[in-house]
Amino acid sequence: MLIKSALLNILKRMQLYHPLQTRFILCKQFVIKRIYQIRYKKYAGEGLQCNVCLKSYSQFVASYPSKENAAAIEKNEVIAGYGENAICPNCLSTNRERLVIAALQTLYTYDNFTILHCSPEKYVYQLLSNKATVVTADLIPGFYQHIDKNIQLQDLTQLDFEDAYFDMVIANHILEHIPRDDVAIAELYRVLKKNGIAILQVPYSETITATLEAPFIEDTQQQSALFGQKDHVRIYQLQQYIQKLVQHQFTVKVMRYESLISFHKFGIQKGECFLEIRK
Ligand SMILES: [Zn+2]
Repeated sequence: MLIKSALLNILKRMQLYHPLQTRFILCKQFVIKRIYQIRYKKYAGEGLQCNVCLKSYSQFVASYPSKENAAAIEKNEVIAGYGENAICPNCLSTNRERLVIAALQTLYTYDNFTILHCSPEKYVYQLLSNKATVVTADLIPGFYQHIDKNIQLQDLTQLDFEDAYFDMVIANHILEHIPRDDVAIAELYRVLKKNGIAILQVPYSETITATLEAPFIEDTQQQSALFGQKDHVRIYQLQQYIQKLVQHQFTVKVMRYESLISFHKFGIQKGECFLEIRK
């Protein structure tokens, strides 16, 4: 363990860690993609269509939480991107990405927009950057350099952008990681233009009575046990999350899963709502 962390520190100091990590991620994705394409060829058919690669399948690949995360996800019935039809067998897009892509393709136009895309997902970024100016940002930008080499180091609770700079902000499954999510929400509101669009999906539960959180917890095992992921600090209760956004002056329209029928063929997570959020 000591040797491993010493080696990592040396690589980081030589600025080699993230370039090597990028190569590793790309190689790993290439191999997994090939394995999935062969292993799940049997799913080819009708019923579902990936809105990234446009291939049709009778089902996508299911994804379930690991053993240490499963208890919190199951007990609290968290909508967090798990379950049937989660991953496209051809391009490996996730249900979380396909939901945002479906929303971008049907609910919004974003031609010539200036967009802040936090912790960018590859396929969402590729779609946006065809038509808009996309600024990508993360607290550890090196981790996303394989998606956008110009990604900026930004702290969501202290953004380096002037007020009303962006037409759209996207932070998909980010706020559940941030101790001061209220400060991050206020910052996202500040940098957005009036009427600007925010896409701020989070994992949530509708069966818990209040948001579960321990904002300053730093014990990855406990975080898995409590919140279903080693780097999460909360599970949002849906109505409380919406109230929090409204308290920060956003307008929020809840689009229930049942009303998103045209999205169902893309294999979005069963039961997941989409929040249409505007400044
Ligand atoms: Zn696909």
